[in-house]
Amino acid sequence: MSEIVYLNGEFMPLEDARIPVLDRGFIFGDGVYEVIPVYSRHPFRLREHLARFKRSHEAIRLEYPMTDADWTELVGELVARNRSDDQSVYLQVTRGVAKRDHAFPKGATPTVFGMSGPLSTPAREVVEHGVSAVSAVDYRWQRCDIKSTSLLANCLLRQVAADAGAVEVVMFRDGFLTEGSSSNVFVVQNGILLATPKNNLVLPGITYDVVLELAQVHGLAHEARPVSEQEVRAADEIWVTSSTKEVLAVTSFDGKPVGSGKPGSLFRRIYQYYQDFKRTVMRQAA
Ligand code: PMP
Repeated sequence: MSEIVYLNGEFMPLEDARIPVLDRGFIFGDGVYEVIPVYSRHPFRLREHLARFKRSHEAIRLEYPMTDADWTELVGELVARNRSDDQSVYLQVTRGVAKRDHAFPKGATPTVFGMSGPLSTPAREVVEHGVSAVSAVDYRWQRCDIKSTSLLANCLLRQVAADAGAVEVVMFRDGFLTEGSSSNVFVVQNGILLATPKNNLVLPGITYDVVLELAQVHGLAHEARPVSEQEVRAADEIWVTSSTKEVLAVTSFDGKPVGSGKPGSLFRRIYQYYQDFKRTVMRQAA
């Protein structure tokens, strides 16, 4: 059974989905996207993902082509038509098909695409051992808060990690931590969880919010403030978070052990809280 995708109003097998070469998503990367994790066929934090999706549309002055109710129905259909119980739903909207010209086309219809594949959250061994990361200068644009399909810099930066045999880059701009190529980054210093502030230089992660909510609920000391490169290099713990990675401990950074070189005690707590929280939410949704 092949993967079923959605394109401009129709469901079809992945291999039958086609877009014209003049689609501005293809020509300019002129589009926005969203990735929603689905556990036991229940989308996780869908409202929040759709709110961010809408904000991304507004930020690039792209018409939000469907209502939240329509998106919710579409996500439900994609989940129902695909095999796994745990899935990763991908939604993308581009500014549509038009003669190549940088300025916005008049009257173009947005291209709406959705697909869903199996969600593979990190294996137990990965969670228990942690992952390695390498540093990089964040040379992306000044609107990293937009979940844009223009991801060339993120791809180049992720490849820096891949070339080093690492799972992620931890990026710095002007001496301060921003994020990873596809994840947010937290550090723990003297028992305090430090998060980067939400601004134009980082994507407002849905998992980032969950982690801070869990820190709040469970009384973990935490602070959102600029974190210097020095602080990251001296941190007791470094974590990366995303909808597909959930929360992972970085145990090696630029080839050096982070803290003891094993996932730290705060990581172990937040990881457990995250798993428990997921289970509770899914039980409530069932
Ligand atoms: N930053 C970037 C650059 C990302 O691509 C992602 C993944 N979408 C994140 C952070 C984490 O966001 P989320 O927790 O919503 O998956």
